[in-house]
Amino acid sequence: MKKERRQFIKKAGIGAAAVGAGLATQVAPAFAKSKKFKWKMVTTWPPHFPMLGEGADKLAQWVEEMSDGRLKISVYGGGELVPPLGGFDAVSQGTVQMGHGAAYYWAGKAPAAQFFAAVPFGFNAQSMNAWILSGGGMKLWEEVYAPFNVKPFLAGNTGVQAGGWFNKEINSIADYKGLKMRIPGLGGKVVAKAGGNAVLVAGGEIYTNLDRGVIDATEWVGPYHDKKMGFYKAAKYYYWPGWHEPGTALEMIVGKKAWMSLPKDLQAIVETAAYRSNMWMLSEFEAKNNAALEELVNKHHVQVKQFPKSVLKDLKKLSKQVLDELAAKDPMSKKVYAHFLNFQKNMNAWNKLTEEQYQTFKYL
Ligand code: CA
Repeated sequence: MKKERRQFIKKAGIGAAAVGAGLATQVAPAFAKSKKFKWKMVTTWPPHFPMLGEGADKLAQWVEEMSDGRLKISVYGGGELVPPLGGFDAVSQGTVQMGHGAAYYWAGKAPAAQFFAAVPFGFNAQSMNAWILSGGGMKLWEEVYAPFNVKPFLAGNTGVQAGGWFNKEINSIADYKGLKMRIPGLGGKVVAKAGGNAVLVAGGEIYTNLDRGVIDATEWVGPYHDKKMGFYKAAKYYYWPGWHEPGTALEMIVGKKAWMSLPKDLQAIVETAAYRSNMWMLSEFEAKNNAALEELVNKHHVQVKQFPKSVLKDLKKLSKQVLDELAAKDPMSKKVYAHFLNFQKNMNAWNKLTEEQYQTFKYL
């Protein structure tokens, strides 16, 4: 056969170089597709943590399915491979290829990262997606992470979180004076500005602290997760809305070197899995939170309360101060904040005619 082929080539007058080139174009894609990748993804969540950690598990599963096993990602809970908040460094240094968490955990390294997770009185899930995916936010997010050789992707959203569990009523901003509340991040800074005492308590210790009166209040996530924590047994009031986390975005991060090592089709698969994860998680939160709220109210007789409008107005003013101070201290935060505010201004004008109008009429 080989001899016949050689003779055919000779007869047809096709040169060796042409044959070589033809062979290369045929063989190269097949060779690239036989290469298998084994990656590690570290997360900030306890292993397989409902919805958030599950999102990481599913993302890895989808990548493996879509790539027919060419990219296999092992997922690690916080502390299994690196500490829960060690993920960003591990990805940045190339110790692992991927991470999963929320951008506000990296505030100490890159203060501007917080804009891509949650901002008090900032974007809800829909606007966050619009800003990052279509409104120019992603370019800024990539710029914030570029010095660390880390590439960010959106990979989920919690929707509007709960305001928190309180053992004291909040009737005016003065009720925050001396209030001991477990509330991290920018929200915590706002509570502190209101005269409260924003404390950090590890997840496993919140219930006991609330039950024993060590803290007066705590925020966590929303009805589904809060019910699992049993907070309704330790606090009188369940306040809404979560002004401090109106639509917290989750992230998947990939090390630059690892990303560049992937062929284009696997890059597309990873990005597509992140998109799917983004939609999956928000849908899970929306569906399971409303069912859990119903159970909290009707089965556990939780007293649901809304923050008075005047309190929200005051908290909003204080939030603006916190963000202005952040922007004054950090040039990158200033740049992102300006873009964020401009998008929010346009989005508010649009929402006034659309979402807000719809909400006044609501459902059938
Ligand atoms: Ca929260």
